[in-house]
Amino acid sequence: MTARASHRRNFLAGTPLDRVGERRGDARWLAAARAEGRFLPVWKGRNLVESRDRPRPVGVRAEQLGDAGLAGCPDILLGVSGNQAWFALAVPAEASPSPAGEFCDLRGIGHLLDPDEGALLAFARAMVLWDERHTYCGRCGGATSVSEAGHARDCTSRTCGARHFPRVDPAIIVLVADEERCLLGRQAAWPEGRYSTLAGFVEPGESLEDAVAREVYEEAGVGTTDISYQSSQPWPFPSSLMLGYRARPATYDIDRRDSELDDARWFSRAEIVGGACLLPPPVSIAWRLIEDWFDSEPGRRLATEADAGPWLPRRDS
Ligand SMILES: [Zn+2]
Repeated sequence: MTARASHRRNFLAGTPLDRVGERRGDARWLAAARAEGRFLPVWKGRNLVESRDRPRPVGVRAEQLGDAGLAGCPDILLGVSGNQAWFALAVPAEASPSPAGEFCDLRGIGHLLDPDEGALLAFARAMVLWDERHTYCGRCGGATSVSEAGHARDCTSRTCGARHFPRVDPAIIVLVADEERCLLGRQAAWPEGRYSTLAGFVEPGESLEDAVAREVYEEAGVGTTDISYQSSQPWPFPSSLMLGYRARPATYDIDRRDSELDDARWFSRAEIVGGACLLPPPVSIAWRLIEDWFDSEPGRRLATEADAGPWLPRRDS
């Protein structure tokens, strides 16, 4: 059985697998599972899908790995669906894999994927990126070796021996809004006109609510009240967990104190659907936060109203 959340889920969340944590140390079971398994390659941070326009994951069979230029790539057990074991495959950047399909960035195609399949690819990406970045011990600098079917790395130094587990970095993302207007900001590196919810990493010593209040104050100089949790989203770029919040403004004057944003402004619903800003991609929890607020006015529906305009990014943005 797979434990599944009952609420409406965000894209990339809700992996449809039994993670079989109890099997990760079982070498005999793993050998049999690999022989019949499906492998999800991740190369240079990109996932393998059938095609960019109609993305579906490509699960490479064990006997196809050689022909696809994927033989010898380290694998990580993701879990089991029915009798089928699924593995992430860490393809080295210097390799030249040649499987059928296209390697694509999940941020561009995530919302075109079936939700279960998107979650599966996000899990694969998160595990491969963690694995690639933890080949050395963060305590002593010694080399690490894989254990627990890829879910741990052990320091090989006899005097250290630290065990390292996959990391998830909590980040808050928040829509500050009253009934009429919401606060959005833009970073200089984004496409022209793009605005989104404010976000930032949780710092040591902070609660999530502390982080929400600090980030909004640092980035926009706005005070907040009534901070409440909305939902979360795994965001494996490379290892974030986005914790989505709503908050009401306690003050309205904008003062970009830390210069992290290029601009921050209040937007009404009419401005949002009138093309005053380019919204974040639908795959993101940022879109979901804006949508929930927008739709809270009776008769309004962002997905329908924003779809009518040419400014809505449909993919790859
Ligand atoms: Zn060590």
